Amino acid sequence: MISQKEKLKQMYKEVKEKNIKFIVMTGGVLSGLGKGVALASIGSLISNDLKKVPIKCDGYLNYDPGTLNPVEHGEVFVLDDGSEVDMDFGHYERFLNITCNGKQNLTMGKIYKDIIDLEREGKFLGKTVQLIPDVTNFIQQSIFSIALSQKADVVLLEIGGTIGDIENELYFFAVKEMARYLKSNIFNVHLTYVPEILGGEQKTKPAQTSLEKVFHRGLQPDVVLCRSKKRIDASCEDKLGVFSGLSSDKIISAEDVKNIYEIPLNFKKQNLDDIVCDSLQVPKNQDFDVFKEKVEKITTNHKNSKIKTIGICGKYTKINDSYASVIEAINHASTFFDTKTIVKCIDTENVDSETLEQIDGFIVPGGFGNRGVDGKINIIKYARENKKPFLGLCYGLQLAIIEYAKNVLNIKECNSTEIDSKTPNPIIKILPNQDLNLLGGTMRLGAYEACLLKGSKVFSLYNSDKVSERHRHRYEVNPEYHKHLEDDHFVVSGKSPDGSLVEFIELKDHPFFVATQSHPELKSRIVNAHPLFVGFLKAVNL
Ligand code: GLN
Repeated sequence: MISQKEKLKQMYKEVKEKNIKFIVMTGGVLSGLGKGVALASIGSLISNDLKKVPIKCDGYLNYDPGTLNPVEHGEVFVLDDGSEVDMDFGHYERFLNITCNGKQNLTMGKIYKDIIDLEREGKFLGKTVQLIPDVTNFIQQSIFSIALSQKADVVLLEIGGTIGDIENELYFFAVKEMARYLKSNIFNVHLTYVPEILGGEQKTKPAQTSLEKVFHRGLQPDVVLCRSKKRIDASCEDKLGVFSGLSSDKIISAEDVKNIYEIPLNFKKQNLDDIVCDSLQVPKNQDFDVFKEKVEKITTNHKNSKIKTIGICGKYTKINDSYASVIEAINHASTFFDTKTIVKCIDTENVDSETLEQIDGFIVPGGFGNRGVDGKINIIKYARENKKPFLGLCYGLQLAIIEYAKNVLNIKECNSTEIDSKTPNPIIKILPNQDLNLLGGTMRLGAYEACLLKGSKVFSLYNSDKVSERHRHRYEVNPEYHKHLEDDHFVVSGKSPDGSLVEFIELKDHPFFVATQSHPELKSRIVNAHPLFVGFLKAVNL
């Protein structure tokens, strides 16, 4: 049996032979500066002919982010393979037009669990297992094993949290080791913060302190990205150049932008593409103009005085991060139209008719539990009766079915067992023998196929009779009610390939009333907007 140390040595050899490059993103001063978006933006400057593999290292002890509260942590992003990952993966997939898998999200919980399993299997050959070097070596092994198994050309390695957080220290140590061995094949980016005090003066002290912490951990940044309100001025560049030991062209401004897709454009203007690609000896992205055109369309639309307002009706209305992918998907689809699209989060526990009248199209997104459900059902009824465009996503489909069954089909007291466990008409329920993936509890997670009804709206939007979308739910439309559901207006327009599960519904005689059991928003990309969202916005813009 080879030792873990030997195993890591062999991996280094392979990583070097394969010439795999690493871009490492660390963050300082405070959290929430957007390391994921910044790293995805850098990735978008590199050639699409290379296999770009993002890896995110989180410090917390949860095995995966699936059970984290979206208010605390932002939306849970689901991948094709059913993994529930950090929402930064949404940025990676959207910016880079790639598909990720769950192994790419490392957490300290995962690292510790795996290493303790190895210890129990006797893989440490009776030696003491220590944080340094064993856990730090294991972190490197975990990173390399993802890079090698995915045949990465460039790894985009994001270290979560803020430099100085105890829970992320071992990752920093691992990165220091990687820099020691990989030399010019690793490119370090430190994202820091330059605040502005009253009068508009930009202050570099917090950034200086975060750089000191970077050096203290044995790391040398190759560029420093400065989050700031406005573009950082020349004196800041000089000062931070002195403190980081870099020429001032390597001090890059990452000022606030209206739309996150402007960030790669902003980086490119400051020649960050040349700096990164020259240093790592990789080609630049030749298709960048396609991306740029889309972003420019969003920016010009933003100036348009013709406005359309989309209402996202949910219970997490305080931070937009809870519905990040839905908002992104709307953004992507908006590039096909000439109006400014505004997204409003509607708190379904407090809706008034005045608010509803201002909305041009309604989205009822995914959700859990019964808080705010009555409000959501009322909104669906309003959209149906007033012929306002409606798009239901997951819970949105289930509630649209309950609304129609109650108010049109007269199926009395029908409900989802999630809302009323004793309902006499459980039109939505957990099915017996449901093929559930136990990892995330009892949810149906990840990509599943659906067959679409020829001639339906969804069929024409997707332009296909077979589609694959990502899922994250527990409850299903009860098959005992399938036959009751369809009437002259209501169409089950998509089912699972064996016909047992409802995947899409729609109403005839309505400009746009479509709902799906899946989360199509998770697959929308800026250069590849999702057809359901395009169809929805088309109806909104009619
Ligand atoms: N709560 C519903 C279910 O579990 C819907 C889930 C969702 O919208 N993601 O089936």
